Amino acid sequence: MKYISTRGGITPISFEDTVMMGLATDGGLLLPQTIPVIPFETLQKWSRLGYADLAFEVIRLFATDIPTETLQKLIDTSYASFDTDEVTPLVELNGLHILELFHGPTLAFKDIALQFLGNLFAYILEKRGGRLNILGATSGDTGSAAIYGVKGKKNIHIFILHPHKRVSPIQAMQMTTVPDANVFNIAIEGTFDDCQAIVKTIFNDLEFKERHHLGAVNSINWARVMAQVVYYIYACLRLKGTPLNPVHFSVPTGNFGDIFAGYVAKRMLNGLIGRLILATNENDILARFLTEGRYKKARQVVPTISPSMDIQIASNFERYLYYLMNESGELVKDAMTLFEQQGEIKFNEKQMETARGDMSALAVNQKLTTQTIKDFYHKSGYILDPHTAVGVAAAMAHRKALAGPIVCLATAHPAKFAEAVRAATGVEPPRPSSLNGIEQKPQRLTVMPCSMAEVKAFVEKHAL
Ligand SMILES: *Cc1c(COP(=O)(O)O)cnc(C)c1O
Repeated sequence: MKYISTRGGITPISFEDTVMMGLATDGGLLLPQTIPVIPFETLQKWSRLGYADLAFEVIRLFATDIPTETLQKLIDTSYASFDTDEVTPLVELNGLHILELFHGPTLAFKDIALQFLGNLFAYILEKRGGRLNILGATSGDTGSAAIYGVKGKKNIHIFILHPHKRVSPIQAMQMTTVPDANVFNIAIEGTFDDCQAIVKTIFNDLEFKERHHLGAVNSINWARVMAQVVYYIYACLRLKGTPLNPVHFSVPTGNFGDIFAGYVAKRMLNGLIGRLILATNENDILARFLTEGRYKKARQVVPTISPSMDIQIASNFERYLYYLMNESGELVKDAMTLFEQQGEIKFNEKQMETARGDMSALAVNQKLTTQTIKDFYHKSGYILDPHTAVGVAAAMAHRKALAGPIVCLATAHPAKFAEAVRAATGVEPPRPSSLNGIEQKPQRLTVMPCSMAEVKAFVEKHAL
């Protein structure tokens, strides 16, 4: 399998090069040249597989340049760190199916992709004799999942910026209590946007970037999307989706990475996956795309109780745009240029018909999110985290209109967002054993003023 850019500006490259490149050199996002459609007989065989074996079958279709035994080992190692062999258990509650994606080491769905990506990076670097200094900014979940993905790995250092005292205490401790010497936590006296701006400016210094082999781990990396395709297929096969009784998915959405993985799975399963429900919080650029037929930048980000979905621009949306624009790199490039200049992309009727066939959307406000956590707890005793609750609320709104089971992706463990849970239910969410004693562990972090120069000097000093 070879990979191309959504903007059509690169000659096709291998899977390994795709992983190492991250963002395409022409500014676009990387995609496989074709999305394989899985024959019915193969799916019947797949339906008997456990999670890790299914992941191997799916990922080998895309990662064709990695020897199969190596790939099997990378995948088995990645999912052995989860607290259940099922990896992503499916729970039926109140007429909905909850797909629990939070059984990894940092209790959010990002572990599913980042555990694998960490092992993949280590393998490729070892083979090629390279080194990598990962630099990123986090508002909470991505940073800890990335740190856990690469901690202790050879040839990799990781530098994660977070806004000092502005991530939840659990989220901060998940990052700062990691003892491995290749992990560097930088707490910036500023906001998440300040952290992101610093990282962006450093990446724009191409000489510095190349000299230090800087790399990113955000969701624009194709390997992250690819690893997430697996659980859509897993849930669809568990629930025995058929073209007459397809399985629908409700996806709490921020950067569009997770739901785009659902779109890839939908194409691969040709009819077995029905509707993708795109659930957002008040930051609703994507919901407005479906309701208004245009993709228009919001003025600013609204902070909510589902902070991992507080985004202004959804970086993975460009991948969907590529298919919506008949796989024309030219059209995508023009649309993205226009978006950068005018902050808006308009769509024609035919494009919107296609998009509305793939997805429906709902923006769920914080009041309804809190109410959903409360109702769900009172009806079933099950505690939703606020991100999952956004998706559950959207699923409830669609339930009457859709035949077939609806799977709600549970993207975080409620213990990560205990404050919102307490406010909604009056009870403390159960605490998973991985958090036991975390308050007593020594913390390692460097607090810094909001200064690009200081961060750069720090990276310079500690880079591999
Ligand atoms: C990152 C995140 C999301 C949003 O996922 P995207 O792929 O960015 O759409 C939703 N919920 C939680 C808990 C997250 O950490």
